[in-house]
Amino acid sequence: MIRIEKLRLTYRSAHGEVHAVRGVDLDIPAGQFYTLLGPSGCGKTTTLRCVAGLEQPSAGRITVGDEVVFDSDTGIAAPSYDRNIGMVFQSYAIWPHMTVFDNVAFPLRQLRPRPPRSTIRDRVLAALSLVQLDGLAERPAPYLSGGQQQRLALARALVREPKVLLLDEPLSNLDAKLREEMRGELRELVTKLGVTTLFVTHEQIEALTMSDRIGVMHDGVIAQEGPPMRIYDHPDHTFVADFIGKTNFIRGTVAAGEGADGYVAIDTPMGRLAARARTGLKPGAAATVAIRPENIHRADATVADNVVEGVIRQCAFLGNLLDCIVAAGDHVLHMQAHPSVGLRSGQPVRLRLPRESCIVIAD
Ligand code: ATP
Repeated sequence: MIRIEKLRLTYRSAHGEVHAVRGVDLDIPAGQFYTLLGPSGCGKTTTLRCVAGLEQPSAGRITVGDEVVFDSDTGIAAPSYDRNIGMVFQSYAIWPHMTVFDNVAFPLRQLRPRPPRSTIRDRVLAALSLVQLDGLAERPAPYLSGGQQQRLALARALVREPKVLLLDEPLSNLDAKLREEMRGELRELVTKLGVTTLFVTHEQIEALTMSDRIGVMHDGVIAQEGPPMRIYDHPDHTFVADFIGKTNFIRGTVAAGEGADGYVAIDTPMGRLAARARTGLKPGAAATVAIRPENIHRADATVADNVVEGVIRQCAFLGNLLDCIVAAGDHVLHMQAHPSVGLRSGQPVRLRLPRESCIVIAD
């Protein structure tokens, strides 16, 4: 439904050039919820704005449905209002001088030919009902709570029944509890409507909980793309592993090539560790083993492989888990455990780093 090919955008200003998007390719099938996730400045918003027609790319091609809306080779550049797209901005961009009704009616009143009044009324009320703002149509827009304003922006984006919904950090202005509620509501709503959604966020929890697929952006390109669990469990790059959740990185050297069992031995300052192999690893090459804190466990005396000895330096009780820093020689490991495990600062520990949870990252 949305296809982006070889997209590039360079901003030019008096201070020089910024290569905001440096070759983005993505293909989002109809009905999918796709998230562009990445740190501030990586080019997420610029990519989204190119799809919306709010920025002119330097090069590339963008297709929405069957229609090419931008193509630098043929000079096609459909204006924003001609793209069948609804968009919600981080700031909501609600018009404060209008009522709730008029805000939602605005995109319909811009259509040529303009739909009859009764049609506009029916569609506005249906959109308000969809986002549970029934009964608030005549209220001035500023007299809404943050969550209601967010819903109003969504109703306005959906009122034209767009094929595609673009969401630019739409939850970031809400407090933590409301944000969590709206995550679920928003996802449920777009699933119900079957609208293809491109969502931009720097919050990994939003990306992991809401998306069908995630594209992790770094420095103007998509560093890795895949379903949330795949991105979390099999990061291909140190950047992705580090950005999505906490990860321990243990640097080392490949001791032997890939074994028949799909594991490879890496010599590290914490001893030899078996880790899930990846292609192209040669003995003697530098490699990094990555393991999530929640995958490190206390080892009982019977376990000998992938065991690291250390001393707990810090142990914080976070209610549902213990968050610990363990010193292992000159290195530290971050581990998380259930409070019932009863760890405390100063305690010597043997830790098991299960080989299936240890992955090798390309350096
Ligand atoms: P954030 O999460 O902070 O919004 P982002 O990943 O969405 O970040 P973009 O807004 O796409 O990032 O910006 C990408 C790069 O382009 C940044 O370095 C930014 O400073 C730069 N940039 C964005 N808009 C302009 C502009 N109008 N003129 C010049 N540079 C710009």
